[in-house]
Parts: sequence; C-alpha cells; structure tokens
Amino acid sequence: MTANLLDYDLEGLAAFCEGLGEKRFRATQLFRWIHQKGAAQFDDMSDLAKSLREKLKTTAHIKALPVLSQHISSDGTIKWLFDVEGGNAVEAVFIPEDDRGTLCISSQAGCAVACRFCSTGHQGFSRNLTAGEIVSQLWFAEHFLRKYLKRADRVISNVVMMGMGEPLQNFSALVPALRVMLDDHGYGLSRRRVTVSTSGVVPMIDRLGKECPVALAVSLHAPNDALRDDLVPLNRKYPIGELFAACKRYLTVAPRDFITFEYCMLNGVNDSPEHAAELVKLVRSGAGDGNWCKFNLIPFNPFPASGLTRSPQAVVVAFSKVLSAAGIVTTIRKTRGDDIDAACGQLAGDVKDRTNIHARLSKRRTIPIRPENELAPAGREDTIDD
Ligand code: SAH
Ligand code: SF4
Repeated sequence: MTANLLDYDLEGLAAFCEGLGEKRFRATQLFRWIHQKGAAQFDDMSDLAKSLREKLKTTAHIKALPVLSQHISSDGTIKWLFDVEGGNAVEAVFIPEDDRGTLCISSQAGCAVACRFCSTGHQGFSRNLTAGEIVSQLWFAEHFLRKYLKRADRVISNVVMMGMGEPLQNFSALVPALRVMLDDHGYGLSRRRVTVSTSGVVPMIDRLGKECPVALAVSLHAPNDALRDDLVPLNRKYPIGELFAACKRYLTVAPRDFITFEYCMLNGVNDSPEHAAELVKLVRSGAGDGNWCKFNLIPFNPFPASGLTRSPQAVVVAFSKVLSAAGIVTTIRKTRGDDIDAACGQLAGDVKDRTNIHARLSKRRTIPIRPENELAPAGREDTIDD
C-alpha cells in the first residue's frame, strides 16, 4: 500500500520526504503542487527532479474521494456526494455569497451522537473519515470550482465542519485536516474562517483550543438540560454547565472573541418566548452579559423519521427578538440549496436507504465528474450512475 499524500499536513509530508531521503523543503514544493495547483499526478510536478518523481510513483499516490453525484441548485449552491466505500457516502456543499465562498464538509460517515432532529444522526455511525478524506472534499471542490467558474484565484474562502458527523469525535483526523486548510502553502485560510461545529464534546473542545484553535460553533438547541438531554443525547454526558465552562476556556485561545451557538428551531419543542427568556438567563449567568456568544437560529429542515416540524417564521422572528432585546447578537440562517436537499441536516438523503446506495455503488462504472462544459443545468442532477 502506498501512502495517500492527502492524509498529510506539511509536517507529516516533510517526515514522509525525509523517509525517502529527500530534503524537507521538497515537501513544501510537493504540498503546493497538491493543494494550490490541484495536481494529482507526479509527472505534472515539473520542478521536482525526475528521480524524486519516480520515487514518489512507487511509494505514494494522491487520491481524492470518488464523486457519486453532483447537484446544482438554482441559487448556485452545489452539493456533492462522495463514495466512502462499504455502501457509505458523505456530502459536501458549496455555498456562494457575494463576499465569500463557503464549503461545508463532512467529518464522519454517519454520526454516533444521534440527535433527534438530524437525519445523519438517525442514520447511525458508520466510520470516521481519514484526514485525507476530509481534505479531499476541499481539494476536489476548490479545484473543480476554479475550472467551473473559470477563476484563477481562490474560490473557497471559508470552511465549516457542519456536514455529516461530529468532528470532535474524529479528532485525530480533524487536526491534520485543519492544518492543511490553514497552511499558507496549502489553502491559506485564516483561523477565523475555518469553523468547527460541535454538539459539545467537552474534553475535545479543550484539546482543539490547545492544538489547533479555529472558530467554534456549538449546537445548543435547548435552554436547559432536561430538554437538551432529549434533543442532543450527548448532553447527558456533558451537560450545559460543563459545556459553557469549556466554551469560556476556549475563548481565551480562540481566533474570535465569541462562540456561535446554533439553535435549530423545532415547532412547539424549543421555540417559545419562555425558552428564549430562559436562554437569555443562561448565557448571562456567571458572565454578566451576553457578549461572549452569538446565536444563529436555524430553520429546521424536516424529514419524516424525526416526527418534528419547522417553527413558523413568525415564531422564529419573535424568538430572535427576545434574544436581540437582551443584547445578544442573533441571526436567522437563510436556507440555501433547498431544491437539492443541501440544507443543514438534510445531508443523508442518499445514504438513508442503504439498499439504494449499494445499488448505486455497484452500478458505478465511469469517471465521477463530467467535463465542465457538460454540467447539468441548475437544479438538475449531474449523476454518473444510470
Ligand atoms: N455534529 C456537528 C456538526 C454537524 S451538524 C454539530 O452537531 O454541530 C451541523 C449543524 O446542522 C448543527 O448545528 C446541527 O444541529 C444542524 N442540523 C442538524 N440537523 C438539522 C436539521 N434537520 N435541520 C436544521 N439543522 C440541522
Ligand atoms: Fe451528529 Fe451533529 Fe447530527 Fe447531532 S446534529 S447527530 S452531532 S451530525
């Protein structure tokens, strides 16, 4: 088995090169070819000595996850489904905005946390992604988009770990992947523009702060432990008091001076003005004011197995007003990519029916993505199986 170079951060690649008897600076050249230029073939790396290229061919490869399908929304959002073998697939979503391009990526196939309102959670846990599989979603998307949008410069300016899986339950793969994103020789993203979203794995919030502090989003969804225990089962292990204490510790090393709390608005469950008032009290407790956090209210994206429904817009607005009036910066998330099931918590569609995904995988027979000029029109599937 040869090494997949997408698995390495620059330090890891330097160690690999040294193992081949090469100087460390060769690793920087190689790293730039892979991540900045999107090269997948050693023969394309023209400033590397032929002898090194030959050595690399027998010891290493650059392999991104195969793409099973691509959907383009009428609002410009693009969703890719990647094959992670064993009948599993993960998704990444590109969300273009005027001033930024955000890529939402996955960290695990499935998720063990089993939140009631999340279709990935309902699917169960399959496996952790490797660092290379996490990075490969960015590698593929960035270099595909440059061609597709005919851009020479960087397209993706922000990465959010808000796809499938709980990133802090896959810590050993997450950290090298983050380092590739942050490295100036890699994607050169600033720490403020890379966000890890977590359901609240308290010890790993501390480790992230020590090893690779990036922006942190915490999925809160409830103003008290009784309700959160029910919605986010991990709360039984790490209750809100411990979670908030970890958030406060994180703020001392974080690249931003606030934590973002995500709050999925569930009709009749966590969306009343009383819940909002309880939330205000909660974030003020101990800290004096609500300035250490921001709230992002997420319209729930329903799926049948959840038995839950989306809060009406007027209820979401009323809830946000209670928080704002108390001086807590609150935004209501716009849903994007609705027509292609690319919104939060919808990232499980094709994997839910495992017989179906098996059938798709076994029928797969051709290269994953069509040339740019053959892309499907907006809102239509560009699929590679029959
Ligand atoms: N496991 C991490 C990151 C992935 S989930 C976490 O829980 O934070 C990313 C975000 O999508 C979380 O805030 C999650 O609560 C939200 N989400 C999950 N299912 C959803 C749904 N059906 N509708 C809206 N948001 C959802
Ligand atoms: Fe896992 Fe996050 Fe979904 Fe909860 S919301 S089940 S932690 S992916």
